[in-house]
Amino acid sequence: MAAELETTLRGPEAYGLARRVIEAMEAAGVWPTPLNFEIWVHYLGDPEGPLGREITRILAASEPFTEATADMLAAEYLPRGRLTEEIRDAGRVLDRELSSVSEAISKAHQSQAAYGQTLDKAATSIETAGDGAGLRAIVSGLTSATRKVQRENETLEKRLDASTREVARLREHLEQVRRDAMTDALTNLANRKAFDEHLDAACAQAETGGGALTLAVLDIDHFKRFNDTWGHQTGDQVLRYVASVMGRVAKAPRIAARYGGEEFAMIFPKENVVQVEAALESIRKEIASRSLRRRSTDDELGAVTLSAGFAQRRPGETASALLDRADAALYASKHAGRNRITSAECLDEAA
Ligand code: GH3
Ligand code: MG
Ligand code: MG
Repeated sequence: MAAELETTLRGPEAYGLARRVIEAMEAAGVWPTPLNFEIWVHYLGDPEGPLGREITRILAASEPFTEATADMLAAEYLPRGRLTEEIRDAGRVLDRELSSVSEAISKAHQSQAAYGQTLDKAATSIETAGDGAGLRAIVSGLTSATRKVQRENETLEKRLDASTREVARLREHLEQVRRDAMTDALTNLANRKAFDEHLDAACAQAETGGGALTLAVLDIDHFKRFNDTWGHQTGDQVLRYVASVMGRVAKAPRIAARYGGEEFAMIFPKENVVQVEAALESIRKEIASRSLRRRSTDDELGAVTLSAGFAQRRPGETASALLDRADAALYASKHAGRNRITSAECLDEAA
């Protein structure tokens, strides 16, 4: 649902929804703070979802919608809140495992110390134990003390085993949470946050390592018209299709991301212009040459096209300056008639 709402907020119904949200907030006497707005967007976007039902309940009960209410709802229901909650849960589990392990270790310590004392005592007693019966008693005491220590060691081992498994499970879960937070739900490409991080890292890498770095931005042509003609859901299918073509070309160390609604970006570390241009051309050509069909009705939709711009990082250049130049090149592609690729370097020469 979060993904559907994300789509709605960038589609034809976006402003209508925003206006209804403001009106509904005013009617309910709720201040239009950014957090309240976010919550109410989710409420009106999905009134039957868990958050929507909770707000319906609060309103029906005439409970005041305070800042504390907003904080609670955000922590409980907003995706970002869920993420923090997951991390907090993981922290709690880790905490529990750590204390139970350290308890087991300290118990093992105590019993080792007690065992040492038993051995010492036995050593002294052996010197004074004259007859067979005395020795037998000492040996039997030692045997049972040894068994006790063995049992406790086994318990400790089992405890450590269980903890190791629990921590491994936790790590896997957190890794999944991290991946989800970095992935665009509609296309499964890296999302903007992940992309920004990748681009910063790639710039730092290029700066210290001195390698080449190329950034490309790609944008579907006349996508608004496509949506208006065929509907948003079909538009979403096209976004998935375009992403899949890019994803196939973007094998590591290349990275492809959905940067915004119908905008994508790609990072090409350590590649020359010819390689980058060939990769982008292959994406452009494949998409332009495929006549699409709507799955539900089998309508012939024709082909979509995309425009792209790319820029090679200059020494010392920041990620945002690089993005600006790639954007300018994309703009030039649009201006020149779309369905084409422009390099920022060629733009500079032409200027
Ligand atoms: P241009 O060739 O200049 O890029 O024209 P355009 O229509 O593609 O560009 P514009 O920025 O005017 O419109 C982008 C449109 O993309 C608006 C919206 O309908 C559509 N869009 C954005 N995000 C999504 C989405 O997640 N799903 C769908 N189906 N459409 C989206
Ligand atoms: Mg576009
Ligand atoms: Mg656009």
